[in-house]
Amino acid sequence: MQDASIDHDIIAGVRTFVDKEVMPVASDLEHRDEYPTALVARMKELGLFGATIPEQYGGLGLSVSTYAMVVEELCRGWMSLSGILNTHLMIAYVIRMFGNDEQRERFLPVMARGEKRAALGLTEAHAGSDAQRIRTVAAKQGDHYLVNGSKMWSTNARTGTMFGLVVKTDPTASPPHRGMTLLIAEKSDAAGKPIPGCTISRDLPKLGYKGVESSEVAFEDFPVPAENLVGREGEGFKYVMAGLEVGRVNIAARAVGVAQAALEAALKYSQERETFGQPICEHQAIQLKLADMATKVEAARLLTRSAAAKKDRGERSDVEAGMAKLFASETCHEVALEAMRIHGGYGYSQEFPVERYYRDAPLMIIGEGTNEIQRLVIARGILARSGYKAKGN
Ligand SMILES: Cc1cc2nc3c(=O)[nH]c(=O)nc-3n(C[C@H](O)[C@H](O)[C@H](O)COP(=O)(O)OP(=O)(O)OC[C@H]3O[C@@H](n4cnc5c(N)ncnc54)[C@H](O)[C@@H]3O)c2cc1C
Repeated sequence: MQDASIDHDIIAGVRTFVDKEVMPVASDLEHRDEYPTALVARMKELGLFGATIPEQYGGLGLSVSTYAMVVEELCRGWMSLSGILNTHLMIAYVIRMFGNDEQRERFLPVMARGEKRAALGLTEAHAGSDAQRIRTVAAKQGDHYLVNGSKMWSTNARTGTMFGLVVKTDPTASPPHRGMTLLIAEKSDAAGKPIPGCTISRDLPKLGYKGVESSEVAFEDFPVPAENLVGREGEGFKYVMAGLEVGRVNIAARAVGVAQAALEAALKYSQERETFGQPICEHQAIQLKLADMATKVEAARLLTRSAAAKKDRGERSDVEAGMAKLFASETCHEVALEAMRIHGGYGYSQEFPVERYYRDAPLMIIGEGTNEIQRLVIARGILARSGYKAKGN
């Protein structure tokens, strides 16, 4: 029986796009670290910038389950493409859930069309996992906040038009998250003129995840209209954590997509390459690898789909999203390495795509909360569900 919350036509459309338009160019663009302008234009045409934005705002209104499958397909082609979408849609989700009607009307339709594109500004040079230690401040002056500070690793900061910017409006609050606030900060005014005070200082050079920039951004007396405050002051941390819950399903789906690509590459190569008079897929040692890889990829996929379905049913899914992210990302890393080993020396060359999968895989271990932090989230969640009351609560 088919699950009604899954839009198979959209997934089939994305699969065709990936097979015909992404696969042939991904490695070249990646090696040149080139922003995929033409592919982004096609993603706009396919409506992907509005994938999870409700139809009433001009989006596709996809369920989390369908979106996870779309992300998996995109990443089977090139992981960076999903990076261009993910924080954008996470910010759209947070605006939809915690913003007001005026903000939804003002931002969601233009975001759905990809005319405005959002980056997340949370991490700072000294504060990633320990996000409550951020130092960027926003002080209210009349009808504006003035933002001062800097952000690190903000993906899409240069090519995007706006930030979901996490700032401190009360740097002395205790616990610190009670002083954290989420602002929608646009880089340009209504006429498209850059607003002074926001500088993209540099794009960080990366191991993989190329073609999409992750930048350091400096804010100096950067004005954000007070009407761009999301929800209430002091609650921004809570909103972003809710967004990250969906983001983790997303990262898990990314990992499944890259792992699937690595598995497919290994299956193909093992049938073509011959040693000792037979295709290497006839050697049992290679068969054992292929079996383990396929089993782990399928398990990762099922965990991811289960967490997505839970979210779609409106159930709390922080633990499940964490489990999916943890397992799928570790699986992706292992499978990418095994695929590379199956390719022998050629796996180490840029002539085959497995070296790219191997360089892309570790990001899923780090992004949207490292796997060490994931384990803490999972452990705290299962302890709480079993009735344990944490000390200090
Ligand atoms: C390519 C890329 C893109 C990114 N995009 C964005 C983006 O768009 N927006 C954004 O805001 N951020 C982004 N990030 C930042 C990312 O979310 C952080 O890198 C991540 O949260 C980890 O933070 P950190 O790098 O400061 O590591 P740290 O927090 O310094 O952690 C260092 C190590 O210590 C471990 N650790 C930390 N605390 C604990 C603990 N309590 N217990 C056990 N182990 C612990 C970590 O797991 C890790 O192994 C991106 C990062 C990368 C690499």
